Amino acid sequence: MRNTPRVLIVEDEAPIAELIAVNLRHNGFQPTWAMDSESAQRELNAVLPDVILLDWMLPGESGLSLARKWRQDARTKSVPILMLTARSDESDRVAGLDAGADDYIVKPFSTKEMLARIRAVLRRRAPEQTGGPVAMGALLLDPTTHRASYDGQPLKLGPTEFKLLHYLMGHAERVHSRGQLLDKVWGDHVFIEERTVDVHIKRLREALGPASALLETVRGAGYRLTAQPLAAVHGPSS
Ligand code: CA
Repeated sequence: MRNTPRVLIVEDEAPIAELIAVNLRHNGFQPTWAMDSESAQRELNAVLPDVILLDWMLPGESGLSLARKWRQDARTKSVPILMLTARSDESDRVAGLDAGADDYIVKPFSTKEMLARIRAVLRRRAPEQTGGPVAMGALLLDPTTHRASYDGQPLKLGPTEFKLLHYLMGHAERVHSRGQLLDKVWGDHVFIEERTVDVHIKRLREALGPASALLETVRGAGYRLTAQPLAAVHGPSS
């Protein structure tokens, strides 16, 4: 990465964008401002930034929809996205993360917080996307193609569920606390509440369908992915 990381600010409110840009420039970043989705796309087509600060509420196409689009685009899919939002509701934040945002910043935010999150997201991005396919019984996951399947059936996983499953498969049979999962899967748990883990575990279970029994809740301790779920080991009691 360059010494002055490029930050694309997608924000329709000029005073906010201006303030962010000034602070970024003072702190060794190179900001570019786009005030709507079209100019943001133009900027992205021209130069790929190191981070995108993406406002949720934009005229026309929403930040959420842009995040989703950029995540699916091969060219932009690995550029970290930080959502800027006035929504502090947990479900909204989870929606942002599910759309592919790496983190979110709730408005109003301090420069210090913004810089900390940008730096965290830049740090976090690097060690990801490594390793070959992993298998656990009929459960298969390939980080290169970003595909997972159970018994030959493809699993529909959001980006976070994919990362979570990848980590759990790589560290199966062990119990992981919520804090440990945040640390290992989210990479920097300072800003995310532990309940977020539960939300993603629930989604992962739904996506796993028949394989959901493999993902156990260990009361008071956390979660475990196991090849021998208790339910199957002991069998039905009737
Ligand atoms: Ca806005």
